[in-house]
Amino acid sequence: MPSYVNPEKCDGCKALDKTACQHICPNDLMVLDKDAMKAYNREPEMCWECYNCVKICPTQAVDVRGYADFVPMGASVVPMRSTDNIMWTVKFRNGMVKRFKFPIRTTPEGKAEPAGGWDNTPEMDSANLYTEPESTGMAAVWTK
Ligand code: SF4
Ligand code: SF4
Repeated sequence: MPSYVNPEKCDGCKALDKTACQHICPNDLMVLDKDAMKAYNREPEMCWECYNCVKICPTQAVDVRGYADFVPMGASVVPMRSTDNIMWTVKFRNGMVKRFKFPIRTTPEGKAEPAGGWDNTPEMDSANLYTEPESTGMAAVWTK
């Protein structure tokens, strides 16, 4: 089942220029109905159920069917993010609820280096990878 926005929970991201689910969807599927201030998936058949919008929505308004390999029988799966972990609440059709909590980062929030410490590599525009040859452990990039 593709993503479904629960209109009772969605607040339209409080009228920001672009909603969180619009920002994150790799398929550009989410749109905001500005009259109702509710988001919706405009092409459900194009949704690959990646869970990005599910995880980023600040009001837990987006629902996607849990995959059968980890939540059988159509359980609902709702995430709650914090700065360093994510907790999934899984509610099975028989009413059983289970919660799973996972760390989501290895560096403190705001401390990640965008270029991973490779800022001084001069070859940004070359055909080589940005970090080569240092990241390969070789003295020079291999050529034919
Ligand atoms: Fe609504 Fe959530 Fe999308 Fe914001 S991120 S517009 S609250 S569904
Ligand atoms: Fe887009 Fe992924 Fe959400 Fe589907 S589940 S609407 S592909 S972000």
